[in-house]
Amino acid sequence: MKKRTYFLLLRIICLVSLPMLAAQAQTTADMDRFIGGLMEQMTIEEKIGQLNLVTAGEVTTGSVVSTDVEAKIKAGKIGGIFSMTTPQRIRAAQELAVNQSRLKIPLIFGLDVIHGYKTIFSIPLALAATWDIDLIEETARIAAVEASADGLNWTFSPMVDISRDARWGRISEGSGEDTYLTSRIAEAMVHGYQGDDLAAVNTLMACVKHFALYGAAEAGRDYNTTDMSLHRMYNEYLPPYKAAIDAGVGSVMTSFNDINGVPATANKWLMTDVLRDQWGFDGFVVTDYTAVNELVAHGLGDLQEVSARSLQAGVDMDMVGEGFLTTLKKSLDEGRVKEADIDRACRRILEAKYKLGLFDDPFRYCNPERAAEAILHPTHLAKAREAAGKSFVLLKNDQHLLPLKKTGTVALIGPLANTGSNMPGTWSVSADLAHSPSLLAGMREVLGDQVNIIHHHGSNLLEDASYQERATMFGRTIPRDERPEADILTEAMAVAQEADVIIAALGESSEMSGESSSRTDIGLPAVQRRLLAELLKTGKPVVLVLFTGRPLTLTWEDAHVPAILNVWFGGTETGKAVADVLFGDVNPSGKLPATFPQHVGQVPLYYSHKNTGRPLAEGQWFEKFRSNYLDVSNEPLYPFGYGLSYTAFTYGDVSLSSGILQPTDTLEVTVDVRNTGDVGGEEVVQLYIRDVVGSVTRPVKELKGFQKIWLEPNQSKRVVFNLTVDDLKFYNAQLEYMAEPGEFVVSVGTNSRDVQGNRFILAD
Ligand code: BGC
Repeated sequence: MKKRTYFLLLRIICLVSLPMLAAQAQTTADMDRFIGGLMEQMTIEEKIGQLNLVTAGEVTTGSVVSTDVEAKIKAGKIGGIFSMTTPQRIRAAQELAVNQSRLKIPLIFGLDVIHGYKTIFSIPLALAATWDIDLIEETARIAAVEASADGLNWTFSPMVDISRDARWGRISEGSGEDTYLTSRIAEAMVHGYQGDDLAAVNTLMACVKHFALYGAAEAGRDYNTTDMSLHRMYNEYLPPYKAAIDAGVGSVMTSFNDINGVPATANKWLMTDVLRDQWGFDGFVVTDYTAVNELVAHGLGDLQEVSARSLQAGVDMDMVGEGFLTTLKKSLDEGRVKEADIDRACRRILEAKYKLGLFDDPFRYCNPERAAEAILHPTHLAKAREAAGKSFVLLKNDQHLLPLKKTGTVALIGPLANTGSNMPGTWSVSADLAHSPSLLAGMREVLGDQVNIIHHHGSNLLEDASYQERATMFGRTIPRDERPEADILTEAMAVAQEADVIIAALGESSEMSGESSSRTDIGLPAVQRRLLAELLKTGKPVVLVLFTGRPLTLTWEDAHVPAILNVWFGGTETGKAVADVLFGDVNPSGKLPATFPQHVGQVPLYYSHKNTGRPLAEGQWFEKFRSNYLDVSNEPLYPFGYGLSYTAFTYGDVSLSSGILQPTDTLEVTVDVRNTGDVGGEEVVQLYIRDVVGSVTRPVKELKGFQKIWLEPNQSKRVVFNLTVDDLKFYNAQLEYMAEPGEFVVSVGTNSRDVQGNRFILAD
């Protein structure tokens, strides 16, 4: 660039950004002055009160419920409330704080708005399967518009815990196994919730959770211990949290688990050294539900001890357990904590309230007219239907069984066919379950009298009644049929016989995944498998519409069922979206954000594994003294990034703009993708790299880019990715973030397995 042009540009940038910076500095100075003044008037008890977050108990997310909330608000002993909704109720609580407490400090109001508020979108794992970052951001934006209209200003989302263990029920709440995909989604969700002005009436403060490594719980058992090398942590598990911090997330929630011997909620290294000092986070940290109290069971001491320890480690707000409220003053008097520790936490919470505009107008989020207008707005429902359709993953489609023709009789059979309350999926605490249409209702609404849909529940969800009870909590009912299985089957088969096509609506109930819903057997429940086998015996075409909140082992199903559409849990508009896809109005484009194993014994199974010193040759199965099993091959059933379409895409060679990437340059990676089928469709073009030689071992593949493109039949597009040295960086053994010169493989393809590669050298 010529010198003159450069200076001109610099001048323009300065002219534009200086007033902004000045305004920003002004606001920060105003905020500091305001909060400083306020804190001067606060007693130590009032400061500790700000650190106390209570639940109103409207929805159940833990086993302890807060008491005496009204009296505590008036006494200045509460900083915020969660699980309370509607402008009326929130206004009433806020009035107590701003009219009846001594210093009139407003409360912050939070809720688990995880995948939508009243308009429920697909579960997060399913949204990740869209690989559509703009769409995901829009879902978060809509959730914020609805929730903020209903009085809320804070959401406990996004959940960005990487999980590679499908036994863990909460894999449903995150974006799956991949660091890069989860990081992009984390940023999008923070932007979607927070917009660019936290004080705007239609934005929410986001809370990235659960910090950290919650998804790596041993054996996939919820709340279990995590023990992990720093190398893996920095390279694979921490980046999504950091991405949310870099995107400006306002708050962070701690996790329940132990990390290398120090539970997250007492972990100073994590909450102060990493989060504050290394990453520069300046929002506030809230614990998870009673996580301070749980440090007692972790074995760190009594409530006073663990409360002091977690405050000093970097916790600002204590959720539900009131360890801070009941012990910090004593610890201060005994010299176990400093007033500065309490002040620091209090200031961070007051800053969040200031940024949300609550000191200007504590009722700014309490507007019943806006709630009536925004909630379940038709445009929101349309977006939910679109997102659900895009999240479905076509796992198998022999001989183009799908899409179906809109004629004749379809038998919709299975325990998931007619249960509206299960459609929103897990962690949809604000969903109106009474008005959640079932799959049957949604399909009938879309198909009208074009298709005659007949129905039978086919089997129980689970054979074991007490397991079924555990799997259908919180009003997500699936009635039990206590008759002998053979009688139920006979009835179901009679319905099946009437049909031209059978749609088997099987899988998990919504509460078979989510919190405290780990499973050791991640197959289709046996009673449902027996039903499926009977349906297949009719010789009629059978489509499996699979409900699940986690990767399942579907080896038998894959071998026997001609078409499988994984619909996860699609939210409010599930039924309509399933009809859209089954009958061809929408061409499926979802791609798996987590590997589907052949067998649960392979778990943890993920595409970005290391090579080992004794890798199996590609395409091989058993070789003695190689890294493999005797009984099952190393392959997944369906790899990460996998998903079929009603059309077919072919990929040309991967060409590079150069064989050498200079550290200051960009390498163009180009591939032509063509739609060779008969219908238009979307394809997620995925780019992976491998660092062939390094100072430490590197994964065999790492996702570093993707583009979702639409192609009409016979249309071809040139897809270009720009790689820079930043895409090749990782944390080395000294935890320095850097790239190492040498050879790299870059591969592009339709999933993590089916790729074509090329090689280049990163120059010194
Ligand atoms: C969950 C969190 C949630 C919190 C509040 C906890 O049990 O782990 O994800 O945000 O409850 O409802």
